[in-house]
Amino acid sequence: MMTSKNSSPALLCPLCKKPRHHEFRPFCSARCKQIDLNRWFSEIYSVPVQEEQNPTESQEEEIS
Ligand SMILES: [Zn+2]
Repeated sequence: MMTSKNSSPALLCPLCKKPRHHEFRPFCSARCKQIDLNRWFSEIYSVPVQEEQNPTESQEEEIS
C-alpha cells in the first residue's frame, strides 16, 4: 500500500492563486469568496428570462 499524502496539489485560491484558507475554501479570503459569488449571480441575472412560451398550456385536464 502506498501512502501518498504528498500527491495532493497545493490548494490555491482559484481567483488570486494564493494559498486558500480553510474558513473560506476554496478561496483564500472572504473577499475572494464574495467576488466569486458576485460573478456567479451576475451570470444568472445576465441571462435573459424567456417567458414567451406558455407553460400553462397543458393544464386543460381538470378532473373534478
Ligand atoms: Zn483569493
